[in-house]
Amino acid sequence: MKHYDYLIVGSGLFGSVFAHEAKWAGRSVLVIDKRPQIGGNVYTVDIEGIHVHKYGAHIFHTNLKHVWDYVNQFAVFNRFTNSPVANYHGELYSLPFNMYTFNKMWGVVTPEEAAAKIEEQRKATGITNPKNLEEQAISLVGTDIYEKLIKGYTEKQWGRPCTELPAFIIKRLPVRLTFDNNYFNALYQGIPVGGYTKMVENMLDGIEVQLNCDYLEHKEELDRLADKVIYTGPIDAYFHYDLGPLEYRSVRFETEVLDKPNFQGNAAVNYTDRETPWTRIIEHKWFEFGKDEQGNDLPKTVISREYSSEWKVGDEPYYPVNDEKNGILYKKYKALADKEEKVIFGGRLGEYKYYDMDAVIDSALRLAGKRFEN
Ligand code: FAD
Ligand code: UDP
Repeated sequence: MKHYDYLIVGSGLFGSVFAHEAKWAGRSVLVIDKRPQIGGNVYTVDIEGIHVHKYGAHIFHTNLKHVWDYVNQFAVFNRFTNSPVANYHGELYSLPFNMYTFNKMWGVVTPEEAAAKIEEQRKATGITNPKNLEEQAISLVGTDIYEKLIKGYTEKQWGRPCTELPAFIIKRLPVRLTFDNNYFNALYQGIPVGGYTKMVENMLDGIEVQLNCDYLEHKEELDRLADKVIYTGPIDAYFHYDLGPLEYRSVRFETEVLDKPNFQGNAAVNYTDRETPWTRIIEHKWFEFGKDEQGNDLPKTVISREYSSEWKVGDEPYYPVNDEKNGILYKKYKALADKEEKVIFGGRLGEYKYYDMDAVIDSALRLAGKRFEN
């Protein structure tokens, strides 16, 4: 039987970048994935001529020039800028929080007026040293925006009250006193033309890939195939949840093809009230260019509603819940992982970290740099 230098478990971005680098460094590599396709959560599938983001909308954004240059080897990126719209009981607001949002919420016109309004609302609550997501949000944008655009969405998304969630989650969103509704503070941003699957296919060019293959079900025989294993699945699953499961949020996607060219006029609309059961609706065609709203090229559109739910063993884990309790448990799993001589843990699930794509790629490149520099 063939022997490899590396067995890579998971063909998501971490596994695929590491596989590419290992091959370049002259190492032999086998990539396996338990899913029937490559790409992990960035996988896109073609429906009605539209690249549908099967595991949730993915917008590539980064400030890391080396990561941007790296991904541009494998795809041409369009100039998509993410500007989601918030829908609160039919009232529409611009996201992230910027002058358009403040003007619609309060009628304020200048940055000074907006800053004064936020400060007035923060002062009224008496928060000085924010200790959780609720306090952090109110300090940043005041109570009106917290109540209408943050509280309901966040509690649906995480299934926990905002007072029990870590402040860092809301710090992901920019707050701007300018008319700039770019969701990300990133120098480089876009969507790969041709879809993410094609980009990952290019990374894995010339590399052996075996799909529908669950590492944990065949661990002993698979371990024998290689000197080293790069494992990008959930760290707690690797240890059979021996110390108890870590918490994740799962997402159910309800995808529909509609017989109209334009459903919501934007790629992402967030439903920020508590009552609407979904968190957001994605209209996939608006990630791409050359799709016109009259439907001359594409008479149909594809939308996905996202429903967030608590994860249980057997579900797809999407978001690690990086709070204190899980942080303590993760450290215990990490100590066990460090003792596994043959296996290196990486990626969003392997490191139990709310990583964006660019951070995952950077982390895989660092690991490759350490192992292959000579
Ligand atoms: P994954 O993509 O999860 O890949 C892990 C792979 O390992 C999977 O293919 C899985 O099937 C496989 N695997 C697991 N266990 C086993 C096993 N036992 N045997 C074999 N194979 C196994 N980031 C951004 O930068 N921008 C965004 O807009 C963005 N949007 C997101 C939206 C959603 C809904 C989610 C969930 C994430 C989003 N992210 C976004 C984050 C992004 O998805 C991740 O940073 C990145 O895809 C993680 O790559 P990964 O390789 O670590 O993990
Ligand atoms: N958030 C919110 N309202 C929104 C969008 C986001 O309150 O309309 C909060 C929510 O707590 C979310 C966090 O901001 O979990 C980070 O949002 P982001 O869009 O970065 O989440 P992701 O893309 O990872 O789902």
